[in-house]
Amino acid sequence: MSDLVLVLNCGSSSIKYQLLHADSAQVRASGLVEKIGEAHGGRVVHECGDRKLVHEGPIADHRAGLRQAFEMFRETGIDLTTAGIGAVGHRVVHGGEVFWRPTLITDEVLDTIRDLSRLAPLHNPANAVGIESTSELLPGIPEVAVFDTAFFHTLPEAARTYALDAKLAAAHGVRRYGFHGTSHQYVSEKAAEFLGRPAGEVNQIIFHLGNGASASAVRGGVAVDTTMGMTPLEGLVMGTRPGDLDPGIMPHLMHAAGLDLPAVEQLLNRDSGIKGLSGVNDFRELQQLIDNGDAQAKLAFDVYIHRLRRYLGAYLVELGTVDAIVFTAGVGENSPTVRAAAVADLQNLGIQLDPTRNETRTPGVRRISTDSSPVAVLVVPTNEELAIARAAHEVALSA
Ligand code: ADP
Repeated sequence: MSDLVLVLNCGSSSIKYQLLHADSAQVRASGLVEKIGEAHGGRVVHECGDRKLVHEGPIADHRAGLRQAFEMFRETGIDLTTAGIGAVGHRVVHGGEVFWRPTLITDEVLDTIRDLSRLAPLHNPANAVGIESTSELLPGIPEVAVFDTAFFHTLPEAARTYALDAKLAAAHGVRRYGFHGTSHQYVSEKAAEFLGRPAGEVNQIIFHLGNGASASAVRGGVAVDTTMGMTPLEGLVMGTRPGDLDPGIMPHLMHAAGLDLPAVEQLLNRDSGIKGLSGVNDFRELQQLIDNGDAQAKLAFDVYIHRLRRYLGAYLVELGTVDAIVFTAGVGENSPTVRAAAVADLQNLGIQLDPTRNETRTPGVRRISTDSSPVAVLVVPTNEELAIARAAHEVALSA
């Protein structure tokens, strides 16, 4: 069975894709379809080796987006129907209580993914449409769903339960599931490998800081807590999401500011977090504003770090002994300022950053703590596409 895998990550109005070899991690081509279903701004950017193709124009739906991407594969010399793809790996956001392993997609599995849309209305419908479309465009190739929630199926009951009316919560699937699991798992394995110890012996606190952001506590390779909950809104402050809030705020705003449900969803998903506080959601722009003396931007940064350190403290206590603190994703991998602030002044807890290492960029996994720091602080680049490709290849092999 070929180890060539097409990995798809279908969002509500976008598709990220990558064609890569699961064994060698070699990427053959990748791309991004944006603004699906919108009247303006539709765009596909496709990269293959040193070639970059851009298509601009309205993209009616996910199927049309994939067709366009497939056409661009052809223009760069790859016909996906005859390229010898061994599997298609789909990132699926919510596996609910049903799926916690990479799963070969059948009609029944697809129906269940659609059913789980009640828990992830912004994500699972797009994942299901992506699966339907690829089945049509690439018939006969095994398709595998890799769930963002899977790594967190091990959360102990106390960590996954909300203190709500137990019957009501059970009737509606209200519990903590956690997200970004593929990244947390991949990064925790890489960190253990870097430390030269079996994952089963290492306790870690992982900060996945991208546009979305989450932290996890991992004991011996097993996730025991995470900051995201029933939806990806809970926990850390993010680019456009607020993270933890007093639940009383929403009814208050509905009464006092006349917000209806769609307005609340817009506020929570798109207009809060760093953007809500400062007007920008990209950390590079935030840094620029701070450098220019913008007080709101500085406050946004401080709130972000305050929340992050609160969870760092919580997870240090939960784990008792911690071997490594790991930073990953766009902000975690690229912002020495965020990393330095996150672990500042914690020498008494055995955490000592090396400022020069923190500022020095090198590819791959690197240690940014001093050699004598009892807790290692690491930067580990995430690679969700590779993790999905490997999982999909493995499932296809045994199918
Ligand atoms: P996503 O959650 O969309 O996968 P990423 O993990 O790619 O996001 O992270 C994207 C974010 O990473 C950007 O919004 C930006 O804030 C941040 N980022 C990227 N490069 C840098 C950098 N050099 N310095 C600081 N932040 C960066």
